[in-house]
Amino acid sequence: MPNIRRALILLPLLLPAGCALSIGNPVADASSLLIPVAGVTAEQLRDSYLAPRSDGRTHNAIDIMAPRGTRVLAATDGTILKLHQGTVGGNSLYLLDRNGRTLYYYAHLDRYVDNLVEGQTVSRGEIIAYVGDTGNAGTGNYHLHFSVSHLADAHRWWEGVSTNPYPLLTRGARFPGRLGAR
Ligand SMILES: [Zn+2]
Repeated sequence: MPNIRRALILLPLLLPAGCALSIGNPVADASSLLIPVAGVTAEQLRDSYLAPRSDGRTHNAIDIMAPRGTRVLAATDGTILKLHQGTVGGNSLYLLDRNGRTLYYYAHLDRYVDNLVEGQTVSRGEIIAYVGDTGNAGTGNYHLHFSVSHLADAHRWWEGVSTNPYPLLTRGARFPGRLGAR
């Protein structure tokens, strides 16, 4: 029985206090999700997650308005999974949360921060890009298109299930100006 005894001794070391709260919850640390545009407060955010888009699609993201060149930040600790340039998202990037299961998509970027590469580890709050109007944002419509998805398989990042970033970014925020304004 020596192996079992050893396992029982190690158990408390493998299960730190509070870890049970995170089991089964892929965004357990979402309360620490940072608004990914410098200087923007929770009160300034607008929930356009369900806004209609062309061809019957829904937005499935929020648009964070800011002047061109405003610093775009890593919303959480993670890895730059992919840098992508396309006609829709323009200059865009995918940030994979260090939990390996939550993916953040940033689009319409003016440009990436110098020397940003795929596979790079970034820390929450680190500057990774700048706000722009690339792709189909519309000329001069400077904003960050930001979406969050959960991955069943970290290696199949394009199959994520979308979730609304708005409550994740405004959790715990107080809106004194909106009290009674519903
Ligand atoms: Zn958008």
